[in-house]
Amino acid sequence: MKDFRYLDKVATLRLNKDACVGCGMCVTVCPQRVVHLNGKKAEIMDLDGCMECGACTMNCPTGAIAVTPGVGCAAYIIQTWLKGKDKASCGPDCC
Ligand code: SF4
Ligand code: SF4
Repeated sequence: MKDFRYLDKVATLRLNKDACVGCGMCVTVCPQRVVHLNGKKAEIMDLDGCMECGACTMNCPTGAIAVTPGVGCAAYIIQTWLKGKDKASCGPDCC
């Protein structure tokens, strides 16, 4: 899934390290390997790889990691597959 990229610097993923207990659930469920454990704390390693699926948020026992699922533009991602990244768009007319 490493080729599955989202728009740069727009993912809504947020991590509250103070609330993280280091259980590793977010690391286990993330299909994009966006999150890693650094010691006993989660760390966002690849924000632009986040596709806002919400799996980490749903499985975090403390609410330390949050994302707004569905904000991501699936149409843009599909267009990058079909037309290439240069011709894909995620504006008001794309879907
Ligand atoms: S929302 Fe999905 S892709 Fe993004 S960090 Fe969480 S599990 Fe990974
Ligand atoms: S699931 Fe939540 S508490 Fe567990 S490592 Fe991830 S952010 Fe921390």
